[in-house]
Amino acid sequence: MYLRSLTLKGFKSFADRTHMVFDPGLTVVVGPNGSGKSNVSDAILWVLGEQSAKQLRGQAMEDVIFSGSSARGPVSVAEVTLVLDNSDHRLPVDFDEVAVTRRMYRSGESEYLVNAAPARLRDIQDILHDSGLGKDTHSIISQGKLDAILSSRPEERRSLIEEAAGISKHRRRKERSMRRLKAMEENVRRARDIDREIR
Ligand code: ATP
Repeated sequence: MYLRSLTLKGFKSFADRTHMVFDPGLTVVVGPNGSGKSNVSDAILWVLGEQSAKQLRGQAMEDVIFSGSSARGPVSVAEVTLVLDNSDHRLPVDFDEVAVTRRMYRSGESEYLVNAAPARLRDIQDILHDSGLGKDTHSIISQGKLDAILSSRPEERRSLIEEAAGISKHRRRKERSMRRLKAMEENVRRARDIDREIR
């Protein structure tokens, strides 16, 4: 699985449709200060479902929509599409390619698509779960985050290492199973009570 392409339209400084294609391996984005390099990584975070405007270096979520420049007026919708190559079928879907789209209107209305079909954020999270991408993983280290990691408490640093080593997904699964087990025990207890009553 790797990031194959990213398409931005009306997102932050990318007013016009901008299509970037990536090859497997390392890609470096270079450019002068303020040219939009961080906006590219913001777009990846956003399309994967980021809900915090602060994480996207804005005050409100609407700040991701191109707000105009000296040369042109603002636009009313921001759209980002990220395409993942899934020929190794690491993502649990039958497609060789997974295109995730997020669209947001100035009215605040927002929508997600997976391979051009309407989807819920939850669907996207389910697909990305276990892939190392998505919320609460550390595949995107933004500016300043490195300093925060270096000065973090040992337990926080440990959770970072566990995430990178793939341990935390097992921890999450264990927690989910424990919750289900607890609910099941509750059901069994209730069934026993009913059984006692009707005997
Ligand atoms: P540096 O190297 O200094 O970190 P950078 O290349 O990472 O810079 P970004 O921070 O990605 O640059 O881009 C900043 C630019 O994006 C600014 O010029 C800012 O005005 C512009 N920008 C951010 N949000 C919007 C928006 N909603 N509409 C229009 N332009 C925007």
